[in-house]
Amino acid sequence: MARRKYVVGNWKMNGGSAAIGEAEAIFAAAAPHTSVDVAICPPFTLIGTLAAALPGATIGGQDCHHAASGAFTGSVAAPMLVDAGATLVIVGHSERRDGCGETDADVQAKAEAALGAGLTVILCVGEPRAVRESGGAIDHVLAQVAGSLPAAFAANRLAIAYEPIWAIGTGLVPTVADVEAMHGAIRAALATRFGGAAQEMRILYGGSVNGENAAELLGARDVDGALVGGASLTAGKFVPIIAAAAELAG
Ligand code: PEP
Repeated sequence: MARRKYVVGNWKMNGGSAAIGEAEAIFAAAAPHTSVDVAICPPFTLIGTLAAALPGATIGGQDCHHAASGAFTGSVAAPMLVDAGATLVIVGHSERRDGCGETDADVQAKAEAALGAGLTVILCVGEPRAVRESGGAIDHVLAQVAGSLPAAFAANRLAIAYEPIWAIGTGLVPTVADVEAMHGAIRAALATRFGGAAQEMRILYGGSVNGENAAELLGARDVDGALVGGASLTAGKFVPIIAAAAELAG
């Protein structure tokens, strides 16, 4: 079945009120590309502002806590993201798995909390460089998929982002053959677990996607979109990626 291309910007810890115009420019340029779904995940502090300034735009969080409320200083709950105007959240990004010690079980709990709050989810997986070099990348990622996915969910409410850690922010990208092998393996694992619904789930690629390599990566088999970090911060860099996705969608 045809899956709509999905291009998502992860602004990470970048952007204050001065970036509102950039988000407006991105969504204005994306609007004619109706065959592509576009989202921006800004820092928490900008979610309410962007959601108010851009009605109809998909704005997401970059993380959420697994609990709905409580004594968790500095954390943000999934219902709070919804309250601020988010409709999407990223969970399990490697900068949280590695930087904050999040386990597969933590990521699964966050994904379940997000779905329960009414958010859609992008669940990230990916291998470190040493695992890629040792030939264990597919086993590593499939174990993350098995351990992090919620037990049950609607196929259109959760996308997986395959982000090799060594490709994030480095300018390095896997070969198209390696991307296709990984995405194919993830799709097969989803099919074993969820049957036909696996054909409806989107699997995004993330890691140094830019305007030059987007067409090749987005055109790879089983690649349904891109999770983009650095190149999503400006319209000048992000819009060509959206346009490449639109070109492929036809
Ligand atoms: C990311 O961190 O999700 C990411 C893909 O970053 P970059 O595009 O900068 O590699």
